[in-house]
Amino acid sequence: MKVAKFGGSSVANAEQLRKVGNIIKSDPKRKFIVVSAPGKRFKNDTKVTDLLIQLGNAYHNQQNYEVFLVAILERFQEIINDLEIDLSLLSEIENNIKVALRVEGKPESKMDAIKAIGEDSSAKILSAYLNQNNISAQYMNPKDAGIFVSEEPGNAQILPESFELLYKLREKDHILVIPGFFGYSKTGKLVTFSRGGSDITGSIVAAGVKADIYENFTDVDSVYSVNPNIVNNPKEITTLTYKEMRELSYAGFSVFHDEALIPAFREKIPVCIKNTNNPDAPGTFIIAEKEASEKCVVGIASDTGFCSLYVSKYLMNREVGFGRRLLNIFEDEGISFEHAPSGIDDMSVIFRVNNFTKDKEKIVVDRIKDELKVDTVSLHRDLAVIMVVGEGLVNTVGVAGKAASAFAKANVNIEMINQGSSEVSMMFGIKDTDIDAAIRSLYQTFFE
Ligand code: ASP
Repeated sequence: MKVAKFGGSSVANAEQLRKVGNIIKSDPKRKFIVVSAPGKRFKNDTKVTDLLIQLGNAYHNQQNYEVFLVAILERFQEIINDLEIDLSLLSEIENNIKVALRVEGKPESKMDAIKAIGEDSSAKILSAYLNQNNISAQYMNPKDAGIFVSEEPGNAQILPESFELLYKLREKDHILVIPGFFGYSKTGKLVTFSRGGSDITGSIVAAGVKADIYENFTDVDSVYSVNPNIVNNPKEITTLTYKEMRELSYAGFSVFHDEALIPAFREKIPVCIKNTNNPDAPGTFIIAEKEASEKCVVGIASDTGFCSLYVSKYLMNREVGFGRRLLNIFEDEGISFEHAPSGIDDMSVIFRVNNFTKDKEKIVVDRIKDELKVDTVSLHRDLAVIMVVGEGLVNTVGVAGKAASAFAKANVNIEMINQGSSEVSMMFGIKDTDIDAAIRSLYQTFFE
């Protein structure tokens, strides 16, 4: 039994949906289908989810929201017309949007109800299209499927009881088409996962029905060893472990949502990233364990938008509880930290810069000075993080040396290195303007 998830580009228009239909038809094991909302058809196009968010914001701010409503309905109308599906589905979608706009309660809950319409409509369209082509399929709402989640708007977490409920779906005869991206809270509220969260639904369904494989269809043949926007035609990765994928997607590998790995990983369900536009390509497999291969580095990921706060205090190493008190200030201010490399008399805290406003900065810095009596505190907002990832890293001699010379060759200064506790990655902090040069040089060193 397979769970197949189709991302935004795979359901962006009728032509893509026909490919999806053929993929489903070509393998009777593809019993559970999860879909995203229609994504971009071309480079500067707008995703339906983004249109829905714009619609929700305009409505909330009492601005003219009609333009967005029209744009959304036009997208669906085009698909429905091209696929020659019954037009009544379009009125149903329009009605669903109006119902969502009237959802009461917190604005974020209303926004979730609006956002979910993209996926919900995609699932209804695909199911109608499959039936029209003599493939017996049924649209299934996440509530009926048993996807129950925490009540955190825009950031739902799956509740454990869902998995048992989902297991019962195995008894169904037809293909089930489930919209990705949202579930329901115990009190019956619709709650979405974080952005890109249809991958999470797919993984949850795969874990629940104990699928043999979770296929994640996107628009690339495989996961690449490095961002193809930085290096031309980088090597494709054929197999990755969950741990490696986790580290790579943390730092900018956007092919697969980082939270989506957890359900599949717990049930040890292999994930295969495949291309809707080239379904015969083998794709990239993500599995629990793999043979130790010669190449210890499988991929290099990078992400910008980090901030580093550096503190130093003479004899810090003898001051019991210093690290805890420093991190406590971050906790109090609601900032989640990513890394905290430390030395004898100094410590840095690395965190994502989003939401770290200038006001917040002042509060944090003042508190550190007052409460911890440090000698220095300084802040750098232009930090990028590079992760060199591979399970074989721990047992291979000289990787750090090779990486360091690659940075030197590119004339890039390393601000920070952290290999510490992770057995699968080495983290380097550099200035964000140096990222492309550093990645190219690292790629040359490890892959060419
Ligand atoms: N449509 C949602 C988004 O754009 C979820 C997804 O596509 O996975 O974030």
